[in-house]
Formats: sequence, structure tokens, C-alpha cells
Amino acid sequence: MHVLNYIGGELREPAGGAYLDNIEPATGAVIGRTPDSGAPDVEEAVVAAEKAFPAWSSLSVQERSGHLLRIAGLIEENREELALAESNDTGKPVALAETVDIPRAASNFRFYATAIEHFASDAHAMGRTALNYTLRAPIGLAGCISPWNLPLYLLTWKIAPALAAGNCVIGKPSELTPTTAFLLSRICIEAGLPAGVLNIVHGHGHKAGAAVADHPGIPVVSFTGGTATGRRIAAAAAPNFKRVSLELGGKNPNIVFADCPYEDTLQTALLSSFSNQGEICLCGPRILVERPLYETFRDDFVERTRGLTVGDPREAGNRLGAVVSEAHMDKILSYVELAREEGGRVLCGGQRVRVNGRCRDGWFVAPTVIEGLAPDCRTNQEEIFGPVVTLLPFDSDDEAVAKANGTPYGLAAMVWTDNLGRAHRVAERLHAGIIWINCWMLRDLRTPFGGMKQSGVGREGGFEALRFFTEPKNVCIKM
Ligand code: NAD
Repeated sequence: MHVLNYIGGELREPAGGAYLDNIEPATGAVIGRTPDSGAPDVEEAVVAAEKAFPAWSSLSVQERSGHLLRIAGLIEENREELALAESNDTGKPVALAETVDIPRAASNFRFYATAIEHFASDAHAMGRTALNYTLRAPIGLAGCISPWNLPLYLLTWKIAPALAAGNCVIGKPSELTPTTAFLLSRICIEAGLPAGVLNIVHGHGHKAGAAVADHPGIPVVSFTGGTATGRRIAAAAAPNFKRVSLELGGKNPNIVFADCPYEDTLQTALLSSFSNQGEICLCGPRILVERPLYETFRDDFVERTRGLTVGDPREAGNRLGAVVSEAHMDKILSYVELAREEGGRVLCGGQRVRVNGRCRDGWFVAPTVIEGLAPDCRTNQEEIFGPVVTLLPFDSDDEAVAKANGTPYGLAAMVWTDNLGRAHRVAERLHAGIIWINCWMLRDLRTPFGGMKQSGVGREGGFEALRFFTEPKNVCIKM
């Protein structure tokens, strides 16, 4: 598909006329081109957004909500086209995109379209002396920079609250996966969103993305992506005192106690290890298993992993598709080599998978399970972001907590036990922004979402995001 920028309500060629190839990971073929935008395109988007801001921010909440609900409806109507585009860009199974990613993108708009109607600010009475109340106004222009793994879902997770709160937006999707954002631009035009309210500028992170992070006219930036990029964005934002939210990488522990609900634990561990080829920031690539259960769990888990089919993302039944790029495949496989050097035993997988037919040149990696590694080795410390998990035994709650917390990251953690008291005690001690007990990926969008330590700064989700995208102002009246 020939992707264009969406600026001032129009689909535009990039200012410099240059394009990047869009490559389908499942086949290695060029399937389209993406604007290779830079600072001049971001400047055009800023001008358009500044022009749109006074009218958009003055609309009633109900009017803004109506726009977002129309967009949600059109995402739902175009679900099949969006899911296929998302699969073509990312390599993920079409069925996964159709049942998870695209419906969740529609829910993001629906959720914030309605949340804004219930968003209240505070009042504080100082006895009979004075009354304080807090007004919350949109900040102005919001930069929303998103990654490739859940492209439409994570872009809309930022855009929807920013727009609902009355800001105008400059979105910068990943250059690897531009198509669903482009289709969203068309949907916004069809939905009648006023020109300049949402602008989407495509291109490389170091050009288009950096121009968003640097621009003094964009006072708030919401970023999801790698920790190293987050550091650069924070550094770029600091001189302009921008408000920044950073959702970064993870190395999440999946803690399995011997008294876990076994079948559920095993099935969900497969999902939390290999869904989306392990390319979800909330996946659990370190599975910590209490010693009495270790061998049983290991053998069953490996057997079920061997049963997962890897292949053409368009064929129903394939559980894993391609990983996002050749470079990413090479990175994942280099970590398997590193694991071997660090003394790990590869129990299954560990290699590229060659798929016949349409996908013979695609970038597929076998789901991989490794044991025998020290908790502090690089394989157990660094984010791989692919279908590679390690197994580590533990002997006590203290040891489980120490190993779980023993990385620079703190995004998510899973705890599997039927002992309610232990579940609460362990959850309280884990350094992670979200902890799932006997489940994974269940989300109530009203809850705060984000990471600790190097997994991020700030929280998204629920009213947190509406607070982030608004400026509080306190008024104090003497009584
Ligand atoms: P990335 O950091 O390479 O890129 C993310 C986005 O930032 C892209 O749009 C990219 O073009 C842009 N970018 C790159 N350099 C930039 C710069 N200097 N200035 C401004 N923008 C720049 O990440 P990725 O490889 O696309 O995504 C994978 C990473 O995202 C993983 O680390 C994963 O854990 C993380 N992630 C985190 C969450 C979360 O909620 N915490 C969710 C999904 C993914």
C-alpha cells in the first residue's frame, strides 16, 4: 500500500518526496512504501494542529466524544481490512489481529469517548475559610510515538485520551508497521474529524520521531518503545521541560508455585511466552518454577511448545507467524547463541523455521525453551522480545521474589498459586507496574498502566491518561 502522511485533514506526500520500503516479514517482499518524513513534515503537522486546537478544545465534551465514537465504529466496520494490514506489516497471525489488536483499538476510542464524560476534577473546602477547585484544561499539542508490535492498538491507546481531553495530536507510528495508522487516517476523514485535530507523520524514529520529541511547540509526548529510545526521548524533552510518559521494555517474571492451578498455569504460560511470537512487552520470558514442580512443568511445557505450529500468518491454526524483520530475527537467534555460550541447554526450538510456499523467504523463529542459566546472565537480564523463554527453579518465596525483581526492568509479573495469602504477599513485594495472579493480559482499561525502574515513567490507562493530557489549575476563593 502507498502510505501517505495525514496532515491538516489531507493525505499528503512527504515534504522531501522520499519513501521507505514496507516489507512483509512473512514473505520478505516489498508490499508498499512509507513516507520517509522529517522535521519539515512535523512542522507542517504542528502548524495544522495549532490551527485546529482552539476550535477542538472548545467543543463540548459530548461533541468530542461523538467524533471518537464514530471512529470506533468505523474501526469495527473495517476490522477485516485492518487485521490483514496489521498481519502483513507485523507477521502476526491474521486471526490474532482480528480478535485482539483491532477490537482493542476500537475499544480505546470507545473507552475514552465515554471516560471523558465522567472525568471530574477536585474541590477542597478549607472549612469556612476558602474553597479550592481545580480546573483541568487540555495542554495543546500532544506527540504520540508508538512501536511496531501492536501498532494500531498502542497508537490509539495514546491518541484516544489525548483527543478526548481536547488536545490536537501529532502521531508517529513505527516505520516498520505504518499501514494500519494510514487506514486510521482514512477512517478519520470518513468520520468527519476536523482537519488538523489528528495528524500522522510516518518515517524513521531518528528523523520524524526525533523531530516530534524535539519540537518546542509539542509540550507533551507519550512514547511506547524500547528503553534505549526512551532515554533519548527523555533527554530531548528535558531542555523544553516537556511532560513525558515513557512505556518501555520488560523482562517479566512468570512465577509458578507448586500449588498452582496446574492446567490453567501451563496453558496460560504458553500464551504468555509465545503469543504474538513473544513480541508483547507484557510477555513472561522468565518462567520461575518452584523446585518440587520443576521437572514436571518443564517436560509438559516443552512438549506443548513443540506442538505449536509456526507458519503463514494467513493460515488459520498457525499459532506463531513471522517475527517483525530480518534484523529482529537475527537478534533473537543471537540471544539463543549467547544462551548456549552462557551454559544454557536449549530444550526445544532455537532455530529459524523455513516455511514452504508463499512464506519461504519469511522470518520465522521456532518457539524456544532454555534451562540451566544463571539468573544474572545476559540472557536472563536483557529484553529479547521474541519467542524465547528460560526456565529457572526456586526453593522459597524469598528466592522467587529476589529472582523476579533481579533485573533492571519492572513492567509486569505473573504469580500462579492457589494459596491466597501467598499470592497477596508475593504481589506486594514484586517490583512491577502490573501483577497478574492466576491469569495474564486481563485488563480493565480504568486501571493505571505502566512500568517501574527501566520499564518506564508515568502511567497510562483510565483517568491517569486524561490527567496526563490535561493541565491542572487551582482556583482558591476566600469565603
Ligand atoms: P523503538 O524504541 O525502536 O521504536 C518505538 C518508536 O520510537 C518508533 O515509532 C520509532 O520510530 C520511534 N523512535 C526511534 N528512535 C527515536 C528517536 N530517537 N526519537 C523519537 N522517536 C524514535 O521500539 P520498537 O522496536 O518499535 O518496539 C519494541 C519495544 O517497545 C520493546 O522494547 C518493547 O518492550 C517496547 N514496548 C513497550 C510497551 C509498554 O507498554 N511498556 C508496549 C509495547 C512495546
